[in-house]
Amino acid sequence: MTRKIACLTLDIESDFHDPDGRIRLFDDASLFDRYTALVKKHNVKLTAFLVTSLLEKYGADYKGLAEKIPVEFAIHSHAHDISNPCSRADIEESMKTFCNFFGHDPIGYRAPVGQITREGMNTLLDLGFRYDSSIYPSVRPGKPGYNNLHLPVTPFRVRREADSIIEIPFGTMSGIRLVFSLSYVKLFGWKPYELLLKMFSLPDQIAILSHPYDHYFHLLPETTDGWEKPLLQRNAENAFDLLETMINFLRGRGYEFEFLSGLCDNLDDDSLKEFSLDEAIKHKHNGRNLYSSQWHSSACDDGWAGRWQTCSVTSRFSRILVWLAETNPSVS
Ligand SMILES: [Zn+2]
Repeated sequence: MTRKIACLTLDIESDFHDPDGRIRLFDDASLFDRYTALVKKHNVKLTAFLVTSLLEKYGADYKGLAEKIPVEFAIHSHAHDISNPCSRADIEESMKTFCNFFGHDPIGYRAPVGQITREGMNTLLDLGFRYDSSIYPSVRPGKPGYNNLHLPVTPFRVRREADSIIEIPFGTMSGIRLVFSLSYVKLFGWKPYELLLKMFSLPDQIAILSHPYDHYFHLLPETTDGWEKPLLQRNAENAFDLLETMINFLRGRGYEFEFLSGLCDNLDDDSLKEFSLDEAIKHKHNGRNLYSSQWHSSACDDGWAGRWQTCSVTSRFSRILVWLAETNPSVS
């Protein structure tokens, strides 16, 4: 029987729109203690993706984190440049900086905002990375948006001739393709998730996305406005409790917590689905995945079946969930 494995992942980058580039998880001892106590209490293994340009400032704190809880470090770019994610130069710089600090190469990568590009995937293959965990197997309009409904919610292999890399997509419910991450659970609240999880299953192996600021958005300076503010603010003060609820739920469903490398160790090579690089990364827009206004027309390239699935079901579910979130202020 396949082991059910969950990987808690933390993309360690500056707090959202923080003018000083701070990470309060490390600057504020009470946040650090609360976080590490929670992870330790539930015996969770953490995979931390590092923005390596921050190693100079926070490197000692990352080592402190590793003294408190079991953590595997991987990379989350060097500059976290959303306007030019996954350039070869950035990944190489990130790898070099990581290696100088830790004394060994990283084996895992996550693209900024999940924007893995062909150039990025080619670079990971060239450099011999074991896994990438950047793909949302879902659809989201807007910038940066994506449409990855052609890919499975389960881990798969991306092949380029003799080389290959394991892709571990962000945890997403099958059927409705709703992402299961801390920010999404904060947005919609646990009750809608609890209901949906009775109808739609999670894959047996999942990576759960979180960021430091997901745990304390209410403590950040008022530098976020527009549509992002209410989304990030929702349930901000309940974030630690929601994370604990998610962990308890997964334990109750029989998941064990592992590092992403541990998840890779447990994958059955023979039954792993395989995609060519061209299939895995669509490149209709400057070699990247689908963005902004491109997403709609490209999503409908698959004819009526694809159009119906992409443009109807998923967007209707999204609208229902946004409505649920908007009409249920006490959603924890
Ligand atoms: Zn990021």
